[in-house]
Amino acid sequence: MPIIRVAVPVPKRQFFEYQHSSALEPGIRVRVPFGPRKLIGVVLETTKESQWQSDKLKAILDVLDETSIFSSVQLKLCQWLSQYYQHPIGDVLHSAMPVSLRKGGSSQPKPVSFLRTTDEGQQIPSENLGKARKQQQLLAQLQQGEASYSSILAQYASTTVKAAVQKKLIEQVERIPSLDTDWLAHLNIGEKPLPNVEQAIAISQITAKIGEYASFLIEGVTGSGKTEVYLQAIESVLTQGKQVLILVPEIGLTPQTVERFAKRFNVLVGILHSNLTDNERLLVWQQSQAGQLPIIIGTRSAIFTPMKNPGMLIVDEEHDSSYKQQDGLRYHARDLAVMRAAQEKIPLILGSATPALESLNNALNGKYQHLILNERAGNASHPKQQVLDIRNQPLEFGLAKGIIERIGQHLAQESQVMLFINRRGYAPALVCHTCGHVEECPGCNKPYTLHKQLYKLQCHHCGSAKAIPKRCQSCNSTELSAMGLGTEQLEQGLQTLFPQYTSVRIDSDSARGKNRLNDMLDKINRNEYQILIGTQILSKGHHFPNVTLVVILEVDGALFSADYRAAEHLAQLVTQLAGRAGRAEKPGEMWLQTHDPSHPLLQDLLNNGYSHFARYALLEREQAMLPPHTYQALFRAQSSDPRLANQLLMDISMQFSYSKHVQCIGPLPALMEKRQGKFRMQLVLSSRNRAALQHALSQAMPNIEQLPLASKVRWALDVDPQDFM
Ligand code: ADP
Ligand code: ZN
Ligand code: ZN
Repeated sequence: MPIIRVAVPVPKRQFFEYQHSSALEPGIRVRVPFGPRKLIGVVLETTKESQWQSDKLKAILDVLDETSIFSSVQLKLCQWLSQYYQHPIGDVLHSAMPVSLRKGGSSQPKPVSFLRTTDEGQQIPSENLGKARKQQQLLAQLQQGEASYSSILAQYASTTVKAAVQKKLIEQVERIPSLDTDWLAHLNIGEKPLPNVEQAIAISQITAKIGEYASFLIEGVTGSGKTEVYLQAIESVLTQGKQVLILVPEIGLTPQTVERFAKRFNVLVGILHSNLTDNERLLVWQQSQAGQLPIIIGTRSAIFTPMKNPGMLIVDEEHDSSYKQQDGLRYHARDLAVMRAAQEKIPLILGSATPALESLNNALNGKYQHLILNERAGNASHPKQQVLDIRNQPLEFGLAKGIIERIGQHLAQESQVMLFINRRGYAPALVCHTCGHVEECPGCNKPYTLHKQLYKLQCHHCGSAKAIPKRCQSCNSTELSAMGLGTEQLEQGLQTLFPQYTSVRIDSDSARGKNRLNDMLDKINRNEYQILIGTQILSKGHHFPNVTLVVILEVDGALFSADYRAAEHLAQLVTQLAGRAGRAEKPGEMWLQTHDPSHPLLQDLLNNGYSHFARYALLEREQAMLPPHTYQALFRAQSSDPRLANQLLMDISMQFSYSKHVQCIGPLPALMEKRQGKFRMQLVLSSRNRAALQHALSQAMPNIEQLPLASKVRWALDVDPQDFM
């Protein structure tokens, strides 16, 4: 009987063998017995001889697919991922498929719930609904055309939907969404601006490579028209009937982005984001696999979407840290995109105003073609960037007097202003005025953040929370005061200073919940808010044409961080934030408040720009023998007994002691030494030679898995680690 090698989703870096009456094609899902359980695995190959010479192999229980659910390129990429990240192949293949297929669901399309108007609902003017404003909106929207149930639930409360259904104005229908089998027939290129010289060069370089592998890095200052370059490059791909996959950061996938692509080409755009149901996700997968979606836009895991006629890959804001998965299969979607483009023989575009040093290095050494856009598109000019020395200055709500005046001036000119602070909540600590005691999370030994609106103290490292105490735990004094500044407090301060203007706070607290962020972005673009206060979220590629002033508070911490990437990330953040100012006709400016105005990083960045800073930072990394000039892998271990974590990492480092090309640093405590009561340690492996590091890892892993402590202490390997928290 043929022997089938199956990848099973268990934490073992190997395949398993089963018997079956006939050979099975690689990529078919099978249900197999695994100990007492039944698991869904994927066929890797059919052979005649057992690796283990066993004649007692169990039989496959069920064959779930008639043909492979993966293309051969996808299977190859998964093998590569498994090897490169030293991750079990069964788990890699599971990560690469939609959740419903992981659970054993059918790979054939299933009906989806839609909402549409009834005949009556289509007739009556929505205003007739009187006070029921939300129902009015919903009805008006559906009168324009039906929509999927989940997309409506992302915008409206379920009670609103139910009420309208009860009134028989709208109804729910189940059906398989119409497939766009012939998008090429109605592909229609919408109005587009004439590219400027830099854009035109970029577009022609890219389109010259359609049909073969090539990687491009577009290094284009904020607002230089990168998206326009993508659009015009895509045009040639689509007219050949080929598909395009676009990755965007977690937060960049707004309806505005999608609409821009859909409108330009008059086609359906497949969207993959975290709010989809399993079935909807599966549907996009199937449609793309069948070649029925010309454009697919999605966040990190969308890189696994199959395409029947792949034509191009694009990774927008390629420096964004959300492309690196931080648990389980710790892959980098950008790196996988490079591998995929090479395998599919299609061009890859990476774009950013602030490229990651890894990508810039690849562009400078010729691995990627470097396309530079130095001019802002249209009539927009570069924002002015300045630092403000706040040493010895009185601050009101964290703001210097000069800055408050500036804000007033910009607001008076009917512009919007944007303030960035890296901390959500009201204040980063609650301190006893009498004895100096700071309330700390016992699990993490870090100060709790004060959240006044929620009336609680919350640990931003483990999420634990408790009520705000009335008295000091140490001396019983009632004189507890907030120390430092967070978004909540800054918002209050600005409302006090500028009561005649409205403000909005955008952080992960206020943007939680379906579509809250999109609502806020919409209102900002309609000028319903004049003052925007927020965290990192604000820096992510949004186009706010009316913002002319950006103020950055409290980033000094990053200037002294122990993480060698902190400087790069700060430079990216500052540049991206500055880039939000003056994106249309009105000129913009950015101010950064600091206690260290002469810091060389700030000076270089503001005087010479990110691209100069980045090239200098690359030289520094080279001297310090850090990535991208060397390659790293990181073993993390955590335990309630720090000695155990330390010992395991010592044992691991022994496995590399004979390797000439790999250097071990540590074990050392992680930057975040303790979290949720667990002590966290790290061991860094570093090598000038990527292949040597890979080889050493492959050799060592089987031994490491056998170490006695490896089954007692929680540990993980992170190849090309992006952070050391
Ligand atoms: P980026 O992706 O670099 O932030 P966009 O492509 O979004 O830049 O362009 C910024 C703005 O400039 C958009 O409103 C876009 O429509 C406009 N724009 C882009 N290229 C041109 C051009 N060649 N002529 C006129 N306007 C342009
Ligand atoms: Zn006290
Ligand atoms: Zn904590």
